[in-house]
Amino acid sequence: MNYSVAPIGHVRSCFKEKFAIPRQPQLAPAARGVLELLPPYDNGEAVAGLEQVSHVWLLFLFHQALEDKPRLKVRPPRLGGNKSMGVFATRATHRPNGIGQSVVRLEKVEAGRLWLSGIDLLDGTPVLDIKPYVPYADAVAGAVNRMADAPPAPIAVSWSDTALCQAREHALRLAEPLVELIEQCLAQDPRPAYQVPPPERVYGVKFWDVQVRWHYPQPDQIRLLEVVMDQ
Ligand code: SAM
Repeated sequence: MNYSVAPIGHVRSCFKEKFAIPRQPQLAPAARGVLELLPPYDNGEAVAGLEQVSHVWLLFLFHQALEDKPRLKVRPPRLGGNKSMGVFATRATHRPNGIGQSVVRLEKVEAGRLWLSGIDLLDGTPVLDIKPYVPYADAVAGAVNRMADAPPAPIAVSWSDTALCQAREHALRLAEPLVELIEQCLAQDPRPAYQVPPPERVYGVKFWDVQVRWHYPQPDQIRLLEVVMDQ
């Protein structure tokens, strides 16, 4: 038997493309967005009481990774992209039913809108459900995951004077912690693990409405080159 589900809302996120989104929530506290609820959930009644909660679980669709053919094994980027694991041993985006789950910080509750931070969700992500985080049940003391026992080690991120000045100006315009967002996301080193970047190669990503460009002067160092309006 098949069941159907429908989004209760969509996330308006700082992340406009999949590249450079942290691999899990909480890794970039400056990553912010708004969950815009759809009728009938855009009524204040649906979120009454939620202001008592600091974090929520979001259940959502990996809408830009949905595929028809089931995969039994995947190659998680976290393991360098060259080791395959059973799909159910991972949090890969390519999975049965394409369902993701993230614990995110709830900054503000309004009728029809939840203001979030620490997100790892692409702009436009359809959300299927929201549940309050319950610390005594959801934080399991002594839990073990030998494949992912700690957050990825951050790499060094430095700024050119021009890029820092540009980022500060756009941060003011957007009223967003853009400098922190860039530093927190790039410190996760978004390039594919197998790629050794030549120093002349320029990488880029769109956060909010700006293009962020950087290069790797050394393989384990990022230097920001510019932060400019997306054309
Ligand atoms: N925390 C979630 C989980 O465990 O189910 C997501 C983990 S998944 C490894 C994180 C990646 O999902 C991000 O790096 C981003 O590139 C990708 N992603 C986020 N939103 C997406 C969407 N709507 N469609 C496809 N991929 C998405």
